[in-house]
Amino acid sequence: MFVPRACAKAAPRWSTSLQAKFLSTSSVRNEVSCTGGAVSSIGDKTPDQPPRPASYTHGFNRSMMVEQFSVMQTQDTFVPPPAKWGGRHTVTLLPGDGIGSEMANHVKELFRYAGAPVDFEEIDLDSTAPDVEGFEYALMSIKRNGVALKGNIETRTSFQGFQSRNVVLRNRLGLFANVVCVKNLPGIRAKQKDVDVVIIRENLEAEYSGIEHESVPGVVESLKIITREKSMRIAKFAFEWATKYNRKKVTAIHKANIMKMSDGLFLECCRITSKEYPDIQFDQMIIDNCSMQMVNKPSQFDLMVMPNLYGDVLSNIACGVIGGPGLVSGTNLGYRYAVFETGARNTGKSIVGQNIANPCAFIRASVDLLNYLKLEHQAHVIEDAVMKTLIEDKVWTPDLGGQATTTDVMQNIVKYVKANA
Ligand code: ATP
Repeated sequence: MFVPRACAKAAPRWSTSLQAKFLSTSSVRNEVSCTGGAVSSIGDKTPDQPPRPASYTHGFNRSMMVEQFSVMQTQDTFVPPPAKWGGRHTVTLLPGDGIGSEMANHVKELFRYAGAPVDFEEIDLDSTAPDVEGFEYALMSIKRNGVALKGNIETRTSFQGFQSRNVVLRNRLGLFANVVCVKNLPGIRAKQKDVDVVIIRENLEAEYSGIEHESVPGVVESLKIITREKSMRIAKFAFEWATKYNRKKVTAIHKANIMKMSDGLFLECCRITSKEYPDIQFDQMIIDNCSMQMVNKPSQFDLMVMPNLYGDVLSNIACGVIGGPGLVSGTNLGYRYAVFETGARNTGKSIVGQNIANPCAFIRASVDLLNYLKLEHQAHVIEDAVMKTLIEDKVWTPDLGGQATTTDVMQNIVKYVKANA
């Protein structure tokens, strides 16, 4: 399993057994991951390596953009490497709905200019119908390729009994951790400064179990399922992350004062896990207070771990605090597969075709993907181009307070990519 960059320095491995301890950092650092060289790319970086020559530095912590990757994998499961034929990677591309296909086209264009040896297996799902066949094909494609870049897939609530395909996809691929690293970009108008937080969200259960029924007419029950197994797994993941990427504090977010059993169990798992990490401060906060604190004083948070729905809400708040849905990328990780998408998981349906969508979140997701595939040069070139465009040239779409179109932003990014590829 993989941990997205922003935070990754070494590639830990773990056992599926709940009680199994993670291997020590030092013991895994030099191991060759059987998840494929691609996966362990950032994990192989050690602080004593000379810094990569950066064509551009602006005080922005590149680790936020570059370090997001390392892999954890089961000791007892062979994990095939991401598909690579003739030196080229094949990556599943699910543009999804709304602005997804526009964004996907921009990414394809950038990859071409950057010379990224990536072939996309693009699958358009039909959101006007359940399209079961198409969806199964998409799943098979991700399983074959090991990795995907994805826009958000709309869930038509009119399809009764039809679960969100985003949720089903995460479940079927075992993508149990969603990681969103949120950090201010210099010069970008933000509601708060000094935000540098990693939000780790349990991605498979709790409110997203999808088990709902009407017990008697007018009474609907929705089951929130929290298990010790998945709570321990995500807690372990969070503390491992904190250890690897020098995060000093882990805050567990919950509502255990009301949901004493379910959130109580989640909190207990975090507490138990924290005992194994005496060097990391452990803290807990109730979700309602946390939402307010995230808006008022987000700098107090370092790394946060939480159940599914709280993670959804807080990632969106955090993205909003530093500038909106168009800036931040997010990663879904499991033992075998990694799926890259935007941090706020929006479809942006209301701005389709208007040429005003901010492409940076989707592009940063594609940079995460490139780093994961160990295509670091191409990742670096595209990342730098995005940062120069945003921070130096201030070519901003309306969501950032600018007047530029998506095309303006893309042309500026392409200019740098062409020059440095
Ligand atoms: P839906 O009907 O699915 O809710 P929406 O576009 O109204 O679609 P979201 O997709 O949830 O809503 O997006 C939330 C807000 O963020 C919307 O105002 C949308 O326009 C805006 N937004 C989303 N992505 C971007 C982007 N990349 N650039 C600029 N604005 C964006």
